Amino acid sequence: MTPTLPGRIEVISGPMFSGKSEELIRRLRRARIARQRVACYKPDIDLRYHRTSIASHSSQTHEACTVTNVEHLKASLLPQLDEIDVIGIDEAQFFDASIVPITVELVHLGKRIILAGLDTTFAAEPFGPIPNLMAIADEVTKLSAVCMVCGQPAIHTQRLGQSQELVVVGAAGLYEARCRTHFSPFTDEHQSEQLELPTL
Ligand code: ADP
Ligand code: MG
Repeated sequence: MTPTLPGRIEVISGPMFSGKSEELIRRLRRARIARQRVACYKPDIDLRYHRTSIASHSSQTHEACTVTNVEHLKASLLPQLDEIDVIGIDEAQFFDASIVPITVELVHLGKRIILAGLDTTFAAEPFGPIPNLMAIADEVTKLSAVCMVCGQPAIHTQRLGQSQELVVVGAAGLYEARCRTHFSPFTDEHQSEQLELPTL
C-alpha cells in the first residue's frame, strides 16, 4: 500500500474586507495549476452572491458548493473523496464545532484543507470554530484590512447600525473594517468621518 502523504490544514483569517476570500481563491487556483483536484464549499448562510461559487469583495470568484451544515458538507465530500486533493472552505466561522473533527479526519487522509473565516465577531469576540481551527492548523494567515476611518491596518469588523444579532449577513454599508482606535462595538462614533474608497 502506498503511504498516504501528510495532509495540511491552513487557516486564513482576519476581519471583513481583509482579503480572506481573495487569498483562498488564489490558493485554490494555484492548486489547480499544479493539477491538483480541488473542491470548494461555503455555508448557505452567505447568499450574497451565487450558490455555485464563492466571491470576494473585489469580484473574484471560484466555483463552490453551498452546504447547509457540516453533515451536509461531509455527505457531499465523502463520495468523491478519492478524486479530491485540496478542499477549500469559505466563511468557515458559520459552521458549528463539528467542522474541527472533520478537518482532522480529512488531514489524516492526506488532504490539504484551506479554511477562510472571520476570527472575531462584530463584538470582537472569537468567532465560532475559527479559534480551534487556528490552534490545530499547520499554518495560520492573519490578514488585516484598511481602516475606513484612518487608513491604518484594521483588525476589527465594525457593524454599522444598531443590530445586536450575531449574524447579520451583508457587506458594504452594513460593516466596515476598523483599526483598534476606531473600533467601537455596539456604537459607532466614527460614522461621519469615513474615508472614501477609490472606485476600483
Ligand atoms: P474578505 O473575504 O476578507 O471579506 P475579500 O477577499 O472578499 O475579503 O475582499 C478583499 C477586497 O475588498 C480588497 O482587495 C479590496 O478590493 C476590497 N476592499 C473594500 N474595502 C476594503 C477595506 N476597508 N480594506 C481592504 N480591502 C477592502
Ligand atoms: Mg470573504
